[in-house]
Amino acid sequence: MSHSNSSTSLRHTLWLVLAVFCLTACDSGSNGTDAPYYYVRPEGDIETIPASGITTTIPIETNMVFSVSCDAPWLKVVKTNLVIIEITAEPNPSREERKAIVTLSGEDKKSYIELTQEGVRLSFQQGGSMDVAARGSKHSVNVACNIGYVVESNASWLIVERTDAAETFNLYVSPADSQSARTGTITISGNSCTDELTVTQAGYGPDPLGLCPGDNHPHAVDMGIGVMFACCNVGADTPADYGDYFAWGETVPKSTYTIQNYKWCNGNTWSYTKYNSWSSEGTVDNLTHLEAADDAAHVNWGGDWRMPEHTDMALLIDNGTWELTSIGGQNGYLVTADNSNRLFLPAAGYRDGARLSAVGSRGIYLNASLSGNGASWASILYLKLIEASHTIDGCSREVGMSVRPARGTAIPYLRPAASELEIGASAYTRGFSVVTNVDFTVSTDATWLTVTKTTASSVNISATANTSTSARTAIVTFSGNGVTAILTVVQAGVGS
Ligand SMILES: [Zn+2]
Repeated sequence: MSHSNSSTSLRHTLWLVLAVFCLTACDSGSNGTDAPYYYVRPEGDIETIPASGITTTIPIETNMVFSVSCDAPWLKVVKTNLVIIEITAEPNPSREERKAIVTLSGEDKKSYIELTQEGVRLSFQQGGSMDVAARGSKHSVNVACNIGYVVESNASWLIVERTDAAETFNLYVSPADSQSARTGTITISGNSCTDELTVTQAGYGPDPLGLCPGDNHPHAVDMGIGVMFACCNVGADTPADYGDYFAWGETVPKSTYTIQNYKWCNGNTWSYTKYNSWSSEGTVDNLTHLEAADDAAHVNWGGDWRMPEHTDMALLIDNGTWELTSIGGQNGYLVTADNSNRLFLPAAGYRDGARLSAVGSRGIYLNASLSGNGASWASILYLKLIEASHTIDGCSREVGMSVRPARGTAIPYLRPAASELEIGASAYTRGFSVVTNVDFTVSTDATWLTVTKTTASSVNISATANTSTSARTAIVTFSGNGVTAILTVVQAGVGS
């Protein structure tokens, strides 16, 4: 208390001295009409100091020597010459604006400059939360800011990329990796201020790859080969679902799949009652192709849906890009057509007896015909994921298998079992198969080779013995419905 009193009285004394000095100086003015006048004041307007801080100068109008001081620790003020002061403001660490008073003192005059520094503005324009779709996406995120800032993500599936514009950055969202929603946080920070954006991504739904235009499956997918394939299996609610399993020629799923309970035999593989061409295997009806009433696609879905022909599947194999893909842990093949349309074929495994086997590693998709090697074998599309293979094959017809319906008419398809055949010098006669959906004709350019069509999908090839020591070559041409395929037959020479 006593110290305070003494300092107050000292200041009073000084003021008194200064006032006297000033009066004396004024009295010695030039013409005596106007009292001499000292002044010190900033020249022009004083602008608001930006939140990011600044170093700048303020010109001072004055006719005397002055000194400067400031009441705020965040603002440094120095006199750089007689009429200029330089101020350096630190960045404002707060969202509140703040003020500083700069005092100019000289002679008996004091003048005050009130400086205002704006508070920090740093926030996401859209507010603190954002919902994004399960699919991968890119977003332009707007930031309201008056300072520089850094932006960070706490999630590997949220990637930020700055742009040239301070008010905007790009946000890349990876596709959802599960059926559950997930959240991540984007933080912007600068001048000790932060703002957060919580991004919530939906878990993927029934169609995470966006294969279909809606949830009203099934859709018919145009794969550019005439025939349309359904987006999902019979019995499936979504493209990734496994759906039901059917024995070939049955239209109702069962709990067990055995030869004993197979619809079209009397309990064993030598007693087929339908779809049999071999007398040793049961009743011969020479049917090799399912009738509509035994077609699981047609019976379950109606309309013109049907089980695919093996040539429909062959076209899909030849004309699509096949990639192993997993949708939410459901492995399968994603088939992409030249027209960019896509099908997902899950590796649904198969049912043998009461067991469901090879789920996730194999897919067996039924075709509408027998495979041609006896009555026991149905034609299938066989997906073997471990071997990364997808081929037309055969499977016992009583096994429970997947059905992917098709509809419409496939483009013409004609493919010999091989493009080249090498035979010995001696006389030769053998059957040769053609995978085709056209009524083809066959011809050869060599008199020593005879090719005769035997069925809709096979020919008989006969060569006379080659008596020359030189090998000889014949070209066999298959054609029908505007498509042509070539088989080159090379017969070895004698003794070679
Ligand atoms: Zn669909």
